[in-house]
Amino acid sequence: MHAWPASEVPALPGKGRDLRIHDTATGGRITLDPGPVARIYVCGITPYDATHMGHAATYNAFDLVQRVWLDTKRQVHYVQNVTDVDDPLLERAVRDGEDWTELAERETALFREDMTALRMLPPQHYIGAVEAIPGIVPLVERLRDAGAAYELDGDVYFSVESDPHFGEVSGLDAEAMRLLSAERGGDPERPGKKNPLDPMLWMAAREGEPSWDGGTLGPGRPGWHIECVAIALDHLGMGFDVQGGGSDLAFPHHEMGASHAQVLTGEHPFARAYVHAGMVGLNGEKMSKSKGNLVFVSALRREDVDPAAIRLALLSHHYRSDWEWTDQVREALADDLDAPAALAAVDRWAAAQTSGGGTDESAPGLVSRTVDALLGVAL
Ligand code: ZN
Repeated sequence: MHAWPASEVPALPGKGRDLRIHDTATGGRITLDPGPVARIYVCGITPYDATHMGHAATYNAFDLVQRVWLDTKRQVHYVQNVTDVDDPLLERAVRDGEDWTELAERETALFREDMTALRMLPPQHYIGAVEAIPGIVPLVERLRDAGAAYELDGDVYFSVESDPHFGEVSGLDAEAMRLLSAERGGDPERPGKKNPLDPMLWMAAREGEPSWDGGTLGPGRPGWHIECVAIALDHLGMGFDVQGGGSDLAFPHHEMGASHAQVLTGEHPFARAYVHAGMVGLNGEKMSKSKGNLVFVSALRREDVDPAAIRLALLSHHYRSDWEWTDQVREALADDLDAPAALAAVDRWAAAQTSGGGTDESAPGLVSRTVDALLGVAL
């Protein structure tokens, strides 16, 4: 699958510092020391609805991670997936009487447009679940053959107890995991599972749903966690620098993915840091599809909101904090009143350089290049 066009990142004089970032697994900030090529995997969208501000905030956070690395003069190897077959996508297609592949293609195209407008750096590998299936099947077969997965009425489940490190990403206790599993696509109540938390690796073909050749697994489709593992191992390998996503992905998605990969390879960890962005709310509630309170990037663009203003709104909140999208935020931004510390520093610098007949004629250009390179905003 193709990604979206890259905006150029201007090179700045000197060299930035190594990124220190909050890692969910250790619960504290760690300094990452990637090799000459920093490796990052960010979980992508399930394309059944347009990009909302919560998505945009998440991708903005990981865009900044890359810009910090680029400023250390490293290359960045960035991989993102598109979950272009999954229950919510199929359910939406049935609800709207639309072909699921057309829905996925349209919403993925809109996501690309939104990312382009917001000047998010594109991944080098943008991989759909469907195109990853030939690589997923042998991984599930290997887990099964190693005794780390089992069959239940034709479906294949991963046994969380096969990974001694299970639980280390989220740090949650069993009860909290069970509640989140039920909330976030798991099936802890299904009878016959060895452990209620065990996630599905391969779902046997269902009547009226698409399915693919699963080799010895039989026809079916892949689970969500193994999708990301197959793509990450294929393009980044074990021990890559950052796995990123919204805070609602820490459990079960990133926990399960880490366990799948660790059992498959016998190595630990899957990622050196698990980094999670805060949730965006609207009028006191988390912005979510189920609540129907989404603010869409494409809708803002249609209302002629400058994408740079949307990006500044994202930048005005620390990536880990949960925050609210309100029209107030938008108005504050229109006046550039609610800018973050980084922008304020740039402003002061720009003012110092340009007032009082500054002698450095290259300064204004450097200011705009800095804001462009580090914050992704072209002035
Ligand atoms: Zn993922």
